[in-house]
Amino acid sequence: MTMSPQAKTDAFLVLNAGSSSLKFAVFALTGQGLAQRHDGQMEGIGAAPRFTLRDALGAKLAERSFTEAEAPKDHQGALGVILQALKPLIDGATIRAIGHRVVHGGRDLSSPVLITPAIMAQLRALLPLAPLHQPHNLAGIEAAARHFPGVAQIACFDTAFHRTQSHAAASFALPPRFYEQGILRYGFHGLSYEYIARRLAAEDAALGKARLIVAHLGNGASLCAIEGGQSRATTMGFTALDGVPMGTRSGQLDPGVVLHMLDSLKMNSAEIAHLLYHDSGLKGMSGISQDVREIEAAGTEAAEAALDHFAFRVRREIGALAASIGGIDALVFTAGIGENAHRLRARICAGLGFLGINLAPDANAANRPEIGRAGDPVRVLIRHTDEEAMIAEHALELISAA
Ligand code: ADP
Repeated sequence: MTMSPQAKTDAFLVLNAGSSSLKFAVFALTGQGLAQRHDGQMEGIGAAPRFTLRDALGAKLAERSFTEAEAPKDHQGALGVILQALKPLIDGATIRAIGHRVVHGGRDLSSPVLITPAIMAQLRALLPLAPLHQPHNLAGIEAAARHFPGVAQIACFDTAFHRTQSHAAASFALPPRFYEQGILRYGFHGLSYEYIARRLAAEDAALGKARLIVAHLGNGASLCAIEGGQSRATTMGFTALDGVPMGTRSGQLDPGVVLHMLDSLKMNSAEIAHLLYHDSGLKGMSGISQDVREIEAAGTEAAEAALDHFAFRVRREIGALAASIGGIDALVFTAGIGENAHRLRARICAGLGFLGINLAPDANAANRPEIGRAGDPVRVLIRHTDEEAMIAEHALELISAA
């Protein structure tokens, strides 16, 4: 047992509810701050659910699938199974707060908030802005409130970190009434960027003040220009479709293409949405997979074209973001592709020497924390991101301040 009953450890539960998954992590408050104790997920909710529980080192403690009769049907049921599995592990702990990842905080919510009925109403009003994610995030909050009545629930938003952007960076060139209606560039992956910015500042005060470009390259991918710890510009916009190509999402597209699909190709909006969210990006271009490892292994012409395009678009955004903050002091790669795909990183950085970005090939091939050429003006770094840890940190800060 990781948390002894005698110790009465304070613990924080983090929930990240997706469309068919519920990810969780448990953090204990120790003398050295927050330490992750367990994490895992229920995947395939509503279809063929599969539960995984890991310890602090990532070793699997439990893994199971379910018969049709016992399978959790929704997030509420999934949370029940998760809590049952966690019970013996957290019995001696007091859950001080539950932190939730919520994709959209709209224009007004620029930092994590304690969830009240009024906040829930505000979050429900944002459902049309994130129809694919927000309903599941709110279902996770409702499920947790039923399981833990009276425990503080805290919402942490993917959009909040970007609320420091100027109007010039956050607006579209449309008549102002659209901005007033909330049609603007919100940006996403904010918890990841905030985590990276905080960790770098803690590691080296100079990096806390520096002009950073962080490339969060996973299945979802975006980049963010950060100056003095604050977001100045980012590649995702009104939705998480904009910016660089992703595993299955198209990224930036001339809006005229969508009009052409509607008017000339007679595709309806559901077909276009499916194409842009699920059948585009690396998967759509390669015709193979959304997984970079499989695309690299395939080596077909279409696979090479997909990787080339991905690298070109990320490189172009690095240049654009550097221009948005008047230069770059450090380029930071994070998330699955950013942390592991060394060949793709090399492809992205090829030709960025004019900005002072050059890789040290051996360090890059070994996925080292520092992969830039020694003595060059721009540091190139790899850092692991941890959105759950960021949420737990926010939950601790918020209840400590209360
Ligand atoms: P998500 O956005 O779903 O959290 P991840 O951050 O886990 O995604 O990133 C998934 C991507 O990372 C996939 O494209 C996968 O191919 C890529 N990836 C993970 N490990 C490696 C590796 N060793 N080499 C190349 N790509 C990798």
